[in-house]
Amino acid sequence: MELLTTTTTSLAGTAAYIALEDRYNAHNYHPLPVVLERGEGVYLWDVEGKRYFDFLSAYSAVNQGHCHPRIIQALLNQAQRLTLTSRAFHNNLLGQYAEFMCHYFGYDRMLPMNTGVEAVETALKLCRKWAYKVKGVPEGAAKILFVEGNFHGRTMSVISGSTDPGARRGFGPYMPGIEVIPYNDLEALEVALQDPDVAGFLVEPIQGEAGVYVPDADYLSRAYALCRAHNVLFLGDEVQTGIARTGRLLCCDHFGFRPDVLILGKAISGGVLPVSAVLASDEVMGTLKPGEHGSTFGGNPLACAVAMEALKVVEDENLAANAEKLGEIFRTRMRALQQNRPDVISQVRGMGLLNAVVIKDTEQSATAWNICLALAEQGLLAKPTHGNIIRFAPPLVMTESQLDDCCTLIEKVIHLHPPMLG
Ligand code: PLP
Repeated sequence: MELLTTTTTSLAGTAAYIALEDRYNAHNYHPLPVVLERGEGVYLWDVEGKRYFDFLSAYSAVNQGHCHPRIIQALLNQAQRLTLTSRAFHNNLLGQYAEFMCHYFGYDRMLPMNTGVEAVETALKLCRKWAYKVKGVPEGAAKILFVEGNFHGRTMSVISGSTDPGARRGFGPYMPGIEVIPYNDLEALEVALQDPDVAGFLVEPIQGEAGVYVPDADYLSRAYALCRAHNVLFLGDEVQTGIARTGRLLCCDHFGFRPDVLILGKAISGGVLPVSAVLASDEVMGTLKPGEHGSTFGGNPLACAVAMEALKVVEDENLAANAEKLGEIFRTRMRALQQNRPDVISQVRGMGLLNAVVIKDTEQSATAWNICLALAEQGLLAKPTHGNIIRFAPPLVMTESQLDDCCTLIEKVIHLHPPMLG
């Protein structure tokens, strides 16, 4: 057997880091071949000292920019006092944090969790409980509607409602009580809502992982109205679209409503810690009693301190307005690029700084991957999603002149791309 020296101090260079990870870590991701070791604002540096613009923001978790000094200071201050008590005891920050979150987002109550998918699970459980205790659905019969193309994470119940073969295959049997309907299809929703056992409708306002699919302008508000009319909870998964990413605090704000159950994660902590939350009314949250749901780390004082500071940064630095303005500029530049190279780019879409450039090739082709490698070479990190779609989602602290430089760099890479036939 080959003997490996496993201490990172003995490693030199990108290839050695990748080889070590490849040897010992599970192969459940396919990352771009860069090894990052430092971040500041919109920039990342690799182990060779090369600087990149980050155009993924850890899947929109780092909206406030890497290692934001205010958030890191909050982390350090709290880490020296108290990090974890569990919920067996009270801690002095949880109440303050819950009040902050309820006022910040406009809800009665919050339930704190850690990762995004845990918040989704929490929302699903809450919805079932509400169905039995309030709506009057017979015990065990509650159904929750999911939409095609969704991404809500990786747990068993969430993949049970996934239509992505890669996410589902080999993991059955699946959770019952889930019905999948087409996305962006109000008629299909209206038909599904005729069933009195339907308790909730789970949806991402924009489908991020699927490739930044923006629905018709009236879809979300009309879907919300339909849910209201049928006494069904609208479960809004804003894990990726929330926290100013799309140019408003929440993506649903563009459409004039707040979900009955709001699911948040990622950028609540500015990418510093896994912090997620579910917010809802007294009626919905009141259905949960002690012992029925929980998490050792959920609501820990370190998370509370970090999240409050991270959300204050979003407000103080006007990140929603910046995302809105820079997003317009980005799409205008990319649409002009599409006009110049219609053989390479077939579509540009998005809202705020959650955008996608669709490469004119099949999902199986390596074209988008190769373009991302060329972008990395030029100092910009982005990653394809579903083969031929490149998502562009930089930290929201980006300046207009930085965005200008990035657009120039993307234009250069696309212009250099050999002509594509077909
Ligand atoms: N929901 C949405 C919309 C997401 O985009 C993601 C992750 O990308 C999740 C849930 C799951 O979040 P996590 O990976 O923190 O569990």
